[in-house]
Amino acid sequence: MMSTLHEAQILSIAQQGEPVLAQLAQAVSNPLESEVQTLIRNMHATMLAANGVGIAAPQVFQSLRIIIVASRPNPRYPDAPLMEPIAMINPEILWQSTETCLGEEGCLSVENTRAQVARAEHLKMRYLNQQGEKIEADYSGFVARIIQHEVDHLNGVLFVERAELAQD
Ligand code: ZN
Repeated sequence: MMSTLHEAQILSIAQQGEPVLAQLAQAVSNPLESEVQTLIRNMHATMLAANGVGIAAPQVFQSLRIIIVASRPNPRYPDAPLMEPIAMINPEILWQSTETCLGEEGCLSVENTRAQVARAEHLKMRYLNQQGEKIEADYSGFVARIIQHEVDHLNGVLFVERAELAQD
């Protein structure tokens, strides 16, 4: 999905305590501006460099409703399923299952912390893709977990606020 016409930049990642992580992020206007495409490209590069499986724009100091979901096995999440990265612009959770599951999470904005978080097992999402098209799609399991974690960032919520902190 990511164009490589221009070299991407690695951005600095906001850490817990930065005001931008506690703000309600703003909706992005459609048609999407070229600055949005550049931001998505740079968010993707930043996420890859940090071994993340997702990233939200507020984590790179941009208070905009953009997330990237990109599960893949890596040193931080060896058991993560492999998927094509998806950029979701103005993502909305249309429906979530009452069935939840507990799983371990970390965050590029909260160093050296892992915790068990209960998340809905299934989601129905609506969002704009990078072409500005309205998409509706269903997600489950670990990918649904990443989406909920990243949407939380757009609403100023960190996973540690939802977590039962792991003892080890
Ligand atoms: Zn996070």
